[in-house]
Amino acid sequence: MRAEARIDLDAVRHNISSVQARVGKAQVMAVVKADAYGHGAVACAKAAQEAGASWLGAALPGEALELRDAGLVGRILTWLWVPGDPFDEVIEADVDVSVSASWALREVEASARRTGRTARIHLKADTGLGRNGCQPHDWEALVEAALKAQADGLVQVVGLWSHFACADEPEHPSVRIQLAAFHEAVALAEQWGVTPEVRHMANSPATLLLPESHFDLVRCGLATYGVSPIPDLATPAELGLRPVMTLVASLAGVKQVPAGHGVSYGHTWYTERDTNLGLVPVGYADGVPRHAGNAGPVLVGGHRRTVVGRVAMDQVVVDLGDDTPLPGDEVVLFGPGDRGEPTAEDWARAAGTIAYEIVTRIGSRVPRVYLGAR
Ligand SMILES: *Cc1c(COP(=O)(O)O)cnc(C)c1O
Repeated sequence: MRAEARIDLDAVRHNISSVQARVGKAQVMAVVKADAYGHGAVACAKAAQEAGASWLGAALPGEALELRDAGLVGRILTWLWVPGDPFDEVIEADVDVSVSASWALREVEASARRTGRTARIHLKADTGLGRNGCQPHDWEALVEAALKAQADGLVQVVGLWSHFACADEPEHPSVRIQLAAFHEAVALAEQWGVTPEVRHMANSPATLLLPESHFDLVRCGLATYGVSPIPDLATPAELGLRPVMTLVASLAGVKQVPAGHGVSYGHTWYTERDTNLGLVPVGYADGVPRHAGNAGPVLVGGHRRTVVGRVAMDQVVVDLGDDTPLPGDEVVLFGPGDRGEPTAEDWARAAGTIAYEIVTRIGSRVPRVYLGAR
């Protein structure tokens, strides 16, 4: 074993149950886009459903189709697509589709005609994020066009939704403004005749911090994987979450070097004294962030160690001090933290990024090993 990402499916189940307990009657969507944030979409989606998640979320239509191809049933929503995407297949696969603009509605209508099916759509309002979603001045036209398509039997408007810009900063003024804008967009759509099955707005931080954002459905990505979306405010344990991924590697070498020895490309680090260096066979090709040179933490033989020198494509070096573990011994890059190992949040701090990016970018060269599969 060079390296592997151990995926604890019991932790996925625990996290979904924990979120469900928090949101009461609202439904839970496990967001499994980007291969479940690097954890493996199909396995995590199954585990989430076993724990009661009634929806799955996929950004891309291809991701939604992958779930169906793997035999997953139940509701799936997909929301990020471009003209030419395989909408006939998506609609035939009984996947719900987000619509943010009139061109998208026309594409869905055309697919519905070709396939002879009624497409389930969720109209997305831009309540302030400034990314995907329909601006308020276009909302009436979009809703009316959707209602016309509904009257023609081509679509069923089942959802009204939006997305936060700053849910991880609950005091940010945009949070209240977006909530008010969403209430307004929903009220108008309902007044014009939409009878939504689900209104939804909350991502993980909103689910954990803003009960007033739960509406009928919460969409949890990071929380499903047990990572804190608000690391400065709360740890996963404090949020009732259990980290899912443990990234381990086997030491590929241990050697003694003298003081003053340069380490790795560019010699950004020199040994301060005679020491032992450990070679860890994972690098930026595996998703170890290059920005974590001279900073990334690992656990070797029960001791916390630090990456020294630059992160290379396939390997990093750690300073082992006086320890002389054996080649083949386990190095834990991150995990839940209960054995003293660093967490994904620790790596995010070391690399100047967010834990979302740490787990999501673990590369395809690292096999996922599933624990707790049913
Ligand atoms: C990724 C995404 C989510 C999940 O966000 P988390 O913060 O990981 O829970 C929810 N909704 C949309 C639209 C997304 O793109």
